[in-house]
Amino acid sequence: MLATDSDPIVAIATAPGRGGIGVVRVSFGRAGEAAARALMQALCGQPLAPRHASYVPFLDQSGNALDRGIALYFPAPHSYTGEHVLELQGHGGPIVMQLLLQRCIDAGRAFALRLAEPGEFTRRAFLNDKLDLAQAEAVADLIEASTEAAARSAGRSLEGAFSRDIHTLVEDVITLRMLVEATLDFPEEEIDFLEAADARGKLAHIRERLAQVLADARQGALLREGLSVVLAGQPNVGKSSLLNALAGAELAIVTPIAGTTRDKVSQTIQIEGIPLHVIDTAGLRETEDEVEKIGIARTWNEIERADVVLHLLDARVGSTGEDHAIAARFPAGVPVVRVLNKTDLTGLATSVARLGGESDADVSEVRLSAKKGEGIDLLRAQLLRIAGWQAGAESVYLARERHLIALRAAQDHLALAADHANQNAQALDLFAEELRLAQEQLNSITGEFTSDDLLGVIFSRFCIGK
Ligand code: GDP
Ligand code: ZN
Repeated sequence: MLATDSDPIVAIATAPGRGGIGVVRVSFGRAGEAAARALMQALCGQPLAPRHASYVPFLDQSGNALDRGIALYFPAPHSYTGEHVLELQGHGGPIVMQLLLQRCIDAGRAFALRLAEPGEFTRRAFLNDKLDLAQAEAVADLIEASTEAAARSAGRSLEGAFSRDIHTLVEDVITLRMLVEATLDFPEEEIDFLEAADARGKLAHIRERLAQVLADARQGALLREGLSVVLAGQPNVGKSSLLNALAGAELAIVTPIAGTTRDKVSQTIQIEGIPLHVIDTAGLRETEDEVEKIGIARTWNEIERADVVLHLLDARVGSTGEDHAIAARFPAGVPVVRVLNKTDLTGLATSVARLGGESDADVSEVRLSAKKGEGIDLLRAQLLRIAGWQAGAESVYLARERHLIALRAAQDHLALAADHANQNAQALDLFAEELRLAQEQLNSITGEFTSDDLLGVIFSRFCIGK
């Protein structure tokens, strides 16, 4: 907790721009109730009853009304931040909101009221135990959700569904740790311990649950982050046309002249609520043109970072020597969909197939016509399959990369614990240590024992006023 975490803070809580209502919110921190009363007197000319909506004028320094609206006073601890909070709901114009904000800062000078940093209200809510860290993150994710599915699952996380599952896991790990550590104090009983307490069975149960939580969290992370899909191939095979077909709009410039897409064009589309960041690229070919060379180098950079590569080919030509050379340079392990485009010119039907590569790489082939929009649904279904999306998955909560990393680390520690459990009794202290490490990872998700550095990173990404 930083020293500034108890400063009185103020911010405009509503989005910039014009709207019916705009909200200025004050959280009084260490200045407490006396400051809240002083500010209510200065701005509203009267004390306000707790948690009652009062229709009042918002007064300037000389007692003239700047605006008139609803004022709400939430005494601690029953407020968003857990501190004394005052909310002023005025008319949502940018100037009137600025005036109201400035008026609060002037009137709050006596108790050093300052402008809030991004995410500072929610950071307070976390520090004052109104929300845990996963819920606080869900606040930002709900605000930033770009699809309905993402918003719904952020709502579930905010409600505490994710946190509850993590807590259950932590409690089970703690129970097991207590059993083990009690045994460590009575070494003569060690040999029987694992059998008697069914430690292996309990551990197996925890690992199963964790695997389920991880699967749900992976789906949630997918909803939040989406997948990056790169369109690659020789010039003129129809990359820009395919981007347009997927997006359903004229975005990239489609021209019959080879080598026109030199700069990156990207578009986020959604398939069943999953955001796909589709990136069109410069066609890959041997060239002496310096500008085109730069575009091609960029294309390879995009391919290196892709979650999925769509390798486009002209169905009339099929895979050429150049295409083999291109495919050979794709990063190992990244799923590739080979798209044979322009089926309308060949009389071939649209189709989809899984290709067995030499390695266990995920390679499939779709035949379609970008121009006619035929077979696009086959490609969309392939992309969903590659994303690992389980249609109709219900218990999805919006999770972040940070959560997945912690869950996987916990999984690794539990696997090591299981190894130790299967060895002889001398490994019992190692077994206990792995359980402790697994618990530490799980705790980091909900924010128990989290460093100020991590909090700084998480909350600084919020918008101001949240
Ligand atoms: P890019 O260079 O790979 O981005 O290719 P474009 O999308 O610019 O397309 C090159 C040319 O192929 C344009 O004239 C497109 O209209 C045409 N084209 C693209 N897809 C198809 C298709 O499915 N069928 C037909 N007949 N023409 C296509
Ligand atoms: Zn193009």
